[in-house]
Amino acid sequence: MYDVIVVGAGPAGLTSALYALRANKKVLVLESKVYGGQIVNASLVENYPGMPKVSGFDFATNLYNQVVDLGGEVNFETVIRVEPDLSVTTNEGTYKGKSVILATGAENRHLGLDREDELVGSGVSYCATCDGAFFKGQDVAVMGGGNTALEDAIYLSNLCNKVYLIHRRDEFRGEHKYVEEIDKKDNIEKVMNSNISKLNGKSSLESIEVINNDGSTRELKVSGLFVAIGQEPKNEIFKNVVDLDEKGYIISSDGVHTKTPHIYVAGDARVKDLRQLTTAVSDGSIAATVALKEI
Ligand code: NAP
Repeated sequence: MYDVIVVGAGPAGLTSALYALRANKKVLVLESKVYGGQIVNASLVENYPGMPKVSGFDFATNLYNQVVDLGGEVNFETVIRVEPDLSVTTNEGTYKGKSVILATGAENRHLGLDREDELVGSGVSYCATCDGAFFKGQDVAVMGGGNTALEDAIYLSNLCNKVYLIHRRDEFRGEHKYVEEIDKKDNIEKVMNSNISKLNGKSSLESIEVINNDGSTRELKVSGLFVAIGQEPKNEIFKNVVDLDEKGYIISSDGVHTKTPHIYVAGDARVKDLRQLTTAVSDGSIAATVALKEI
């Protein structure tokens, strides 16, 4: 019997584990992929208070080690069901908790193009800092207009020969500071008002077809495509214990409680206005504190 079972080892989940462990509680964290959540993809985090510059990977690794060093169990298993009686079933077994914190974050959105899934690992990537080095000296494209896409384009411009930055509107969503930096780079070409319509290549990506909002098309010869078009939650499996909004985020009346007693939500998985590292760790600390109070 665990005091707290945390689903998800991103910043929100690991922070809730940290707070529960420091209260001397028995904690299990369940994670289906790797620890760290989306922040491991950030080459540099510059907006975390008190840490002017930290790589996302270092941040996540330090937090993970902090949890493990305090005696937290982190099992890399996929949760398939959470019951109202606080039992959590994974692909490996069933665990029982006195409380459950859902901190499942969100996953990278896909373009939904033919062959996109097949070409993952053969040209298509959702993580520039993880896969950028495979494309050293080559021509690549980044799709998206948020901070992730802008950061990815800058990061890749330092590794690759040429970077096409494709965005569906005429204005970026990401911060002006990044746009200014991009404008200074000779090897980044902005392709605005455009979407990708086709991925070409035999066993690996060779080119992409880009369609402008005016209907004209253009072929870009690239061996890498970095898709950075935001995230979406994956909370369908928890529908028996939580309410979801129309986009699939977990609804909480106060940002912590769900509709089921002793099941809480933290981080990007919940309905909220600002999804940032700072708000994720804030959610994690609050969820653990509330959960322990209510055990
Ligand atoms: P985001 O801010 O949601 O941006 C997603 C981008 O993808 C938008 O420009 C959007 O276009 C575009 N898009 C969405 N769906 C699309 C589709 N189907 N086809 C083509 N384009 C599509 O996502 P993000 O950049 O991953 O950032 C997520 C959050 O993390 C944000 O709050 C961001 O500020 C934060 N973040 C912060 C940092 C940092 O501070 N260092 C770094 C990375 C991310 P529209 O603009 O037209 O909607």
